[in-house]
Amino acid sequence: METLHHIVVVGGGAGGLELVTSLGDKLGRKQKARISLVDAGLTHVWKPLLHEVASGSLDANANEINYRAHARKHHYEFQLGRMSGLDRANKHIIIAPFRDEDGQEVVPERRLQYDTLVIAVGSTANDFGTPGAQEHCLFLDSLKQARRFHNLMLNAFLRKNHEALQGQPHTLNISIIGAGATGVELAAELRLASRELPIYGMNHLKSSDVSISVIEAADRILPALPGRLSSAATRELERQKVQVLTGQPVSEVRNDRLIMKDGTELPSEMTIWAAGIKAPPFLAELDGLETNRGNQLIVEQTLRTTKDPDIFAFGDCAACPQPDSDRPVPPRAQAAHQQADTLFKTLCHRLEGKEAVPFVYNDHGSLINFSKYTTVGNLMGNLSGRSMYIEGKVARLFYVSLYRMHQVALHGFLRTGVIWLMDKISRAMHPRLKLH
Ligand SMILES: Cc1cc2nc3c(=O)[nH]c(=O)nc-3n(C[C@H](O)[C@H](O)[C@H](O)COP(=O)(O)OP(=O)(O)OC[C@H]3O[C@@H](n4cnc5c(N)ncnc54)[C@H](O)[C@@H]3O)c2cc1C
Repeated sequence: METLHHIVVVGGGAGGLELVTSLGDKLGRKQKARISLVDAGLTHVWKPLLHEVASGSLDANANEINYRAHARKHHYEFQLGRMSGLDRANKHIIIAPFRDEDGQEVVPERRLQYDTLVIAVGSTANDFGTPGAQEHCLFLDSLKQARRFHNLMLNAFLRKNHEALQGQPHTLNISIIGAGATGVELAAELRLASRELPIYGMNHLKSSDVSISVIEAADRILPALPGRLSSAATRELERQKVQVLTGQPVSEVRNDRLIMKDGTELPSEMTIWAAGIKAPPFLAELDGLETNRGNQLIVEQTLRTTKDPDIFAFGDCAACPQPDSDRPVPPRAQAAHQQADTLFKTLCHRLEGKEAVPFVYNDHGSLINFSKYTTVGNLMGNLSGRSMYIEGKVARLFYVSLYRMHQVALHGFLRTGVIWLMDKISRAMHPRLKLH
């Protein structure tokens, strides 16, 4: 019996899950290829929602997708496990032993054969080796970390509320290192959390007792975005009583303070690292595949790795060149979404012996959401290539539409419509903030 061509996608994130869904629907359903997804976790939550999970303004359970259930519906296979290596000669990926929460081995190291391999394992925060960062910072790379942050924040609020009741000093200093989109949006979410908590019983703690600082090494916040957006965002943060410190590289993180490069100190009991990204280190030792300094797999414009025609990579873990630019495609959900589309076409072509499709990134603009307060952004004109500044409700609509597009890719239009309706009802019925 002829065996089916096996496409293995590693990483079911913003890009990988969209890709296996369309491959499963098109090729898996008709038995034209066998499609497998390998992910280190059992469920998917769209990463750009993590700062809302951290602050409690979004209930992750309602936005979580179980890979096994999704795989069944969309005709692909799911394997739980963390890829740790590659054997290109035998076309095997190596999956590390799976251990339970107590460290007991549940499944030993395994191998999975592939005909075509796609690596989409995303990225994690890059602390650039800053002393103390790993020990004292919180990170927002996974749902587990976002939930941990949320619990720590609630406990900190409780502690400070109690200290206020006792008449003791009770300022809570929260610092966010890195004023890219994640850091700026997280600051606004935290300010909302600090404003609404007293409603739920913490009557002795005022919003002004929660000091929130955003620290950026560059000379302005949102350094990768146009200056006008950066100025609008600075004004909005200041309006929300968030301290904005620019041109201030952090040289050390301690448990209760930050030490700046110029020697000044900033008290900080909760520190979140949101500056820079790097791809997972195991990619740098992947059987001779080419990587850059940030561990990203170097790919051609077709998203094919430079050293192996059967291996593709995309999303945050890949450095994909852009025509007319010396910078690779930026690590964004928007880019992963578009790359999943292109790779879907390429992989269908591949089964028919046709050419790969080159990827061209279409930057639709950038939007920064300040929780329920406002949204600012710039939209790119497709023809003119010029950007248009937008803010308020219109900008918020475009911001939300990025997530809705991801949901459409995973569930189709009809189900996304139903999910949208259920979200509306849930928001009307439940408190704005998750309190446990
Ligand atoms: C808090 C936050 C807010 C953001 N906001 C925005 C935004 O507003 N707009 C925007 O465009 N971008 C935003 N981003 C960036 C965006 O989330 C990423 O660019 C996008 O998720 C990248 O998609 P990906 O598929 O490459 O990786 P991811 O979505 O990170 O998915 C990677 C997947 O790989 C799995 N994995 C990792 N290692 C392994 C392994 N060894 N074996 C098996 N599985 C593995 C992970 O479990 C995960 O499911 C934000 C990021 C963060 C952290």
